[in-house]
Amino acid sequence: MEQLTLTSQVKKETLGQKASSWKHRSVATARYTGKQLAWFVRLGGILVVTLLWGSAWVVNVRAEDRLAEALQMCVSKHPYVTKTVEIVTGATFSTLMEGAEVSGMDILAILTVADNVYNLSSIRLGRNLELRYKRESGELVGLEYQIDTEEMLYVTKDEDGWQAERKLIEYEVRLRTVEGAIESSLYIAALEQGLDDRAVVALADVFQWELDFSMDVQQGDGFKFIYEERFLAGRYIMPGRVLAAKFINSGESHYAFLFETTPGKEAHFNEQGESVQKMFLKAPVAFKYISSGFTTGLRYVEAFNVSTGHRAIDYAAPLGTPVRAVGDGTVVRAGWNGAYGQFVSIRHNGTYTTNYAHLSRFAVSYGQKVSQGQTIGYVGSTGFSTGPHLHYEMVKNGVKINPLREDFPGIDPVPADQLTEYLKVVETWQPKLDQL
Ligand SMILES: [Zn+2]
Repeated sequence: MEQLTLTSQVKKETLGQKASSWKHRSVATARYTGKQLAWFVRLGGILVVTLLWGSAWVVNVRAEDRLAEALQMCVSKHPYVTKTVEIVTGATFSTLMEGAEVSGMDILAILTVADNVYNLSSIRLGRNLELRYKRESGELVGLEYQIDTEEMLYVTKDEDGWQAERKLIEYEVRLRTVEGAIESSLYIAALEQGLDDRAVVALADVFQWELDFSMDVQQGDGFKFIYEERFLAGRYIMPGRVLAAKFINSGESHYAFLFETTPGKEAHFNEQGESVQKMFLKAPVAFKYISSGFTTGLRYVEAFNVSTGHRAIDYAAPLGTPVRAVGDGTVVRAGWNGAYGQFVSIRHNGTYTTNYAHLSRFAVSYGQKVSQGQTIGYVGSTGFSTGPHLHYEMVKNGVKINPLREDFPGIDPVPADQLTEYLKVVETWQPKLDQL
């Protein structure tokens, strides 16, 4: 249509009719405008939309650039993301990894390399496995596991593949001094100082060869401990080593100082350099178990009493409380023994034997070698017994003696050639302990 119109217009011009030509032209123009208005509008619209879209695209591209830049910065600053996998009941390392969508190949590789330093089948309930991924690619490149309070397991992947290592946890250590007088128990006195219960146990354990905290400790006793507290990233984690300790029991001062006799082997010694560790522990139940009964006043104890014929010490403790061997030895009896009920007897040497009665369960059998502190059975009420308690006897040369009154043989003292060095340690700490 358009083509036709224009042709007729040109024809008319060649005829020399200028005015009419003008007329025609203007008409033609008018006609053209009318016909194409919609197109202009459409084209303009498209142009505007294109421009808007274009500028939006530019803005968008810039935003994307900025996002990519930010991501890049993030990646270079925080190149990894981590995922925590909690070790739940019934889970194995493999099922946990499968649950976290780790590939079978990676699971196998991690298990294999870790096996040289740590067996991943012994991971503990309630702890966590931390998985580490590259932020950019999402590739799994690491696994961390806290083995115990001292060590971490790191399994990492680089160009050479997976590798595993154990590393000591580097705590920040701060010294803390705690002192107090005992109103009812060491446990309560220490808790009142704001110590956590693990610290109280660690402090009491320093003197577990010298004092039976359930029996010996009384009102008016006092203590002072200088010990380490461990922190990670500024957060308190747990108590560390006890460097120096003093416990005043019935007016008598007991001291303990930490000293390294051979590289990597530390122990506590008294002010003369004698070991605070003895051949026997004072009590067959650990402080951490007797403390709770003590604080709630539930504990019933029948003491050693020659006149009543009770040549033993009775510890009232909840059913199932672990009972420990007070010294190294051999199990010479583990079975039923009349009024004693379920009974364990340990021969320590030619002089000493210890007996543990009324047990609910055994943890050892006849002929077995046991070491000091090892669980041998659990508190019960078997045989002639009115309630759950441990009846504990110590026999010396065939005679039942009171273990609380006995002075037990010590183990290795500070070696003579290190005594001067050790006494310097004592000189450093003892005045601090005596400032009660
Ligand atoms: Zn008894």
